[in-house]
Amino acid sequence: KKQITRLPEWLKTPIPDGNNFKKIKNDLRGLNLHTVCEEARCPNISDCWGGSDKSAATATIMLMGDTCTRGCRFCSVKTAAKPPPLDPHEPENTAEALKRWGLGYVVLTSVDRDDLADGGARHFAETIRKIKAKAPTMLVEALTGDFAGDLEMVKIVATSGLDVYAHNVETVEELTPFVRDRRAKFRQSLAVLEAAKLAKPGLITKTSMMLGLGETEEQVMEALKELRKIDVDVVTFGQYMRPTKRHMKVEEYVTPAVFEMWRERALEMGFLYCASGPLVRSSYKAGEAFIENVLK
Ligand code: SF4
Ligand code: SF4
Repeated sequence: KKQITRLPEWLKTPIPDGNNFKKIKNDLRGLNLHTVCEEARCPNISDCWGGSDKSAATATIMLMGDTCTRGCRFCSVKTAAKPPPLDPHEPENTAEALKRWGLGYVVLTSVDRDDLADGGARHFAETIRKIKAKAPTMLVEALTGDFAGDLEMVKIVATSGLDVYAHNVETVEELTPFVRDRRAKFRQSLAVLEAAKLAKPGLITKTSMMLGLGETEEQVMEALKELRKIDVDVVTFGQYMRPTKRHMKVEEYVTPAVFEMWRERALEMGFLYCASGPLVRSSYKAGEAFIENVLK
C-alpha cells in the first residue's frame, strides 16, 4: 500500500532568515537561557522573536529540566519516573537573563513533575515573582501542567503576579485517553483553568488544541462550549505533527481554510482572541496578541 508521506504545501516552511536568526543568537549568547523556540526548532521563531517592536517579542522558556514524569503520545520530551532535582538557582537566573534580554512577553513552561510534592508550583511562582521584580513591564504567561488535579497548586501559580495562565487541553474530550498521558483528564484540565480564573478574577486564561488527531467537528464545538462555560479567554489551534514514527500518527492535515473557520467560530463564541493555523503553537506571537487585544 502506498503511504502518503509528503507534507502539504502549507506546512513547508522556510528556514528562519539568516540575519534575523544571527541577531537572535547574539542576543542570547551568554545568557544561558534554554528556549523551547530554539531547542524545538520552532518554525515561528522569526515571527515571534523578530519584528521591529521588541516590546511585543515572545519567547518560551522551559523550567524544571528536560525530563518529564509523563508520557503523552504526541510529545517527544524524554521521560523518567524520577527526574533530577530542581535547580534552586533557576528562578533567579532565569529572571536575570530575561531582564538582560529585554523582550516583551515570556511564556514559562515546564515538563510535568509528578515526582515533586507541589508539582513544581512554588518554583513556577518564585520565578514569576523574580521576573516581575527585575523587569516589571515584562508580560508573563505560565503554561503549566495539571498538577495532578491539585487546585491549591494552581492557585499558588495563578496568584504569583502573572498576566496569563495557560493550560492546554490538547485535544477533544473523546480523544484525550488516546492522546495524553493516562493521568491527564479533559475534565481535570477544565478544573485547572477554572481554578486559575477563580483564584484571581480578571486573570486571562488560555488553552490550546491540536487538530488532525481524528477529532470531529462536533467534538471540537463541544470542547469550545465547555471552555467558554468556565470563562476561558483565549484558545489556539495548530496542526498535530508527529515527532517520530514511535508517536501517534497524523490522521489528517487540516487545511488553512478550516483553521480560519475555527478562528472565526471561536471569536463568535466570545473568546477574546484566537490564533489558529497549521503552524500555530500555543505561544505563537502571544505578546503581540496580548498587547492588541488586552492592553488596548
Ligand atoms: Fe517560541 Fe512558541 Fe513562538 Fe515557537 S511559537 S517561536 S516556541 S514563542
Ligand atoms: Fe510532553 Fe507535557 Fe506530556 Fe510531559 S506532560 S509528555 S512535556 S506534553
